[in-house]
Amino acid sequence: MKVAVVGTGYVGLVTGVVLADMGNDVVCIDNDPEKLEKLRNGISPIFELGVDELLRSTIADGFFRVSDSIAEGTKHADVVFIAVGTPPGPDGTPDVTAVKAVAREIGRNIDHYTVVVNKSTVPVGTADMVEKIMIEQGCPQDMFDVVSNPEFLREGTAVWDTKNPDRVVIGSRSEKATAKLCELYGPLDKPTIVTDVYSAELIKYASNSFLAIKISFINAISRICEANGANVQDVAKGVGTDSRIGSKFLQAGLGWGGSCLPKDVAGLIKIAEGSGYDFSLLKAADDINNDQTQHFLRRMETRLGGFSGKTISLLGLAFKPNTDDIRDAKSLEMIETLLAKGAIVKAFDPVATDNVRVLWPQVNYVEHIYDVSDGADALVLVTEWNEFKSIDLNRLGSCMKQRVLFDGRRCYSKAIAERAGFEYFTIGS
Ligand code: NAD
Repeated sequence: MKVAVVGTGYVGLVTGVVLADMGNDVVCIDNDPEKLEKLRNGISPIFELGVDELLRSTIADGFFRVSDSIAEGTKHADVVFIAVGTPPGPDGTPDVTAVKAVAREIGRNIDHYTVVVNKSTVPVGTADMVEKIMIEQGCPQDMFDVVSNPEFLREGTAVWDTKNPDRVVIGSRSEKATAKLCELYGPLDKPTIVTDVYSAELIKYASNSFLAIKISFINAISRICEANGANVQDVAKGVGTDSRIGSKFLQAGLGWGGSCLPKDVAGLIKIAEGSGYDFSLLKAADDINNDQTQHFLRRMETRLGGFSGKTISLLGLAFKPNTDDIRDAKSLEMIETLLAKGAIVKAFDPVATDNVRVLWPQVNYVEHIYDVSDGADALVLVTEWNEFKSIDLNRLGSCMKQRVLFDGRRCYSKAIAERAGFEYFTIGS
């Protein structure tokens, strides 16, 4: 099938290369010339497992190319995906400016029947809005259908998730458009939920908000554990083995961050508000999350007797392992507070350092992990990269002023840390 994907970020690029790998004729479009230049040379502008390989093979096989022209993509494709960013506005309302701009451009250029697919996470009613914009641009109503097809991939495992989704959601009011998307996704052989566009638009926000509530719930329990000598890991295990609940998203830590959960929670709170409903449950989950890193920082401050003049070393900067994405990463909140309170901050991350350096040039970034703790008063585990789990804690501690470890992700055990001579603090025990 001939496919165009507008937006070559984490969602658009991965969707594009996976669809190309399935034998579709894909053109990916972006308005960022630097990204396009890299992509033309077979280099992924994002760090995502498996993307580079797929990019090179699909370019070589003639199934994938890039362009800066939505017009070209629209004329080429039977299915056009909109996968541009929808960042939160100042009050949390999703900003759909880029979606509107893309819809205008598609509307101006359609010359044959096309299915326009909203893959970006967008508020209820956006499919209607896209349709209206396209008609305003002179596009005949019978020449296109707008479908909502929310994306559930996780950064870090995006290629695998795209090839193996738990479900494909298609929100459509046209049998012709539904059939086209079912044909496109058919080879994946995964459960497909066909529904109306409004429900499909809401499914994405509801899913992410539920996951956020689950994490905030266990983080709230972690606070009670800390006050009562209980261990949140054991509590989570006891709770999560109940098949009605499940163990996923029950890991206590510094809280949720990243490009999706904070934005989608804020978005659903606003969508609810616009629907005349006060989503107090979701607001409470957000409040718990906003205090989680600050609570850990207060514990650190108490132990260290203040941050002023202290050297604090951060292990991990990305919002989660296996990605270079730092949008709403807890490391940023930590750096901001530590610097404001007079600490000297050192940091190491396997891939996200350059992205953080732009925002916080005051931090001392090191190239090699074992240099991060040199002269430190405390070590803080912020992102649970796999390579940190098997690190030689004794070697890390050997060049510290004092061996104090604050484990923000419950990456180590108290026994292992103490064996390496560390005083150990973690979330929820
Ligand atoms: P991103 O910021 O990584 O990528 C967006 C891309 O769109 C950028 O490359 C940008 O240059 C391009 N773009 C913006 N305006 C454009 C225009 N007018 N014409 C052409 N290109 C344009 O964003 P992302 O993380 O890929 O997310 C995209 C959407 O998917 C968002 O709505 C997001 O909420 C949703 N989503 C993201 C994830 C995720 O894990 N990142 C998962 C599921 C859904």
